[in-house]
Amino acid sequence: MGAERYFKIEGGKITRLKKSCPKCGPGTFMAEHSDRYHCGRCGYTEFKKK
Ligand SMILES: [Zn+2]
Repeated sequence: MGAERYFKIEGGKITRLKKSCPKCGPGTFMAEHSDRYHCGRCGYTEFKKK
């Protein structure tokens, strides 16, 4: 067991938890784009809500 640290907020950018694909299930993370999330495995795209 090491010295785990919490994520820090640096330069106004917050490291968020990645979104997992609803089709592929947890463990498959979706790539985050400026206005949407995209799953590289199945091609599922989810647009961000504003
Ligand atoms: Zn997927």
